[in-house]
Amino acid sequence: MSLLVVGSMAFDSIKSPFGEVERVIGGSATYFSLAASCLSPVRLVSVVGRDFPKKTIEMLSSRGIDLEGLKVADGETFHWKGYYEYDLNTAHTVRTDLNVFRDFAPSLPAAWRETPYVFLGNIDPRLQLDILAQVRNPRVVALDTMNFWIGKSPQLLREVIRNVDIVIINEAEIRELTAEFNLVKAARKLMNMGPGRVVVKRGEYGVLQMADGEVFAAPAYPLETIYDPTGAGDSFAGGFMGYLASRGRAALTEMDYRLATMYGSAIASFTVEAFSTERLQGLSLEDISMRLSAFRSLTEFRV
Ligand code: AMP
Repeated sequence: MSLLVVGSMAFDSIKSPFGEVERVIGGSATYFSLAASCLSPVRLVSVVGRDFPKKTIEMLSSRGIDLEGLKVADGETFHWKGYYEYDLNTAHTVRTDLNVFRDFAPSLPAAWRETPYVFLGNIDPRLQLDILAQVRNPRVVALDTMNFWIGKSPQLLREVIRNVDIVIINEAEIRELTAEFNLVKAARKLMNMGPGRVVVKRGEYGVLQMADGEVFAAPAYPLETIYDPTGAGDSFAGGFMGYLASRGRAALTEMDYRLATMYGSAIASFTVEAFSTERLQGLSLEDISMRLSAFRSLTEFRV
């Protein structure tokens, strides 16, 4: 079943202990849609400037991503500059140039209003609300955000959170949002704001998922080569939501959510093996299945 995403499409300038790149392709919606497209049809809503490469747009389209909701506007593409120290779990922002996002007012193609699965990717909560107002009776709506928006638009963000089913968020950001250090308590506090399920991304320590009476913990895949953690969170979310959409049933079970977590973790583990979206572009279902099997042996034990 179809999956709609709104989020950033970007040029990223990134420095990590393993190298430095300037103005490579990034953005929450870019990583998300590439990851999700391995598992389900994706509809992408975003905006880029005229400086965004045509060949990237063609590459996204060749992965089956529907780009009817992508606007090419006069002006420059969103640009994010950041760095990582040896703690690759924490991205430090140097600058955020919103550029064409400043005046973006998304309008969903009429046929997209009934999309059953919706992901409000990391972007201005104003745009997340805007999309939410345009979709009709979605089955599952999930949301991601980051410190930039928690600081800039806390009220609007809370309004979006009140209206979604799932929040997928990283560890530092859930602590900031709830003013609670303990993750179990923080997840409970966040669920009290509206969503029935919270998925906490913990970088190299994996994922903690909580819903009413349920807790699930998954490790991250222990890799020998990690170049660039950028996009891991969005790739996780793409795999997670892509798997839910591929199930196509109205009543998702706890096991569906657990498997979705493992698909997300498997896909994210490929993203960090190269800079930008390089590794995701050629990813096949076979690659993902092999990593899922590796995850199974990683966590299997008997009592
Ligand atoms: P993550 O998956 O959490 O590593 O997200 C990485 C992506 O988030 C990068 O490719 C950036 O372009 C994008 N990004 C960074 N800051 C923002 C922001 N304030 N709003 C939207 N996207 C952002």
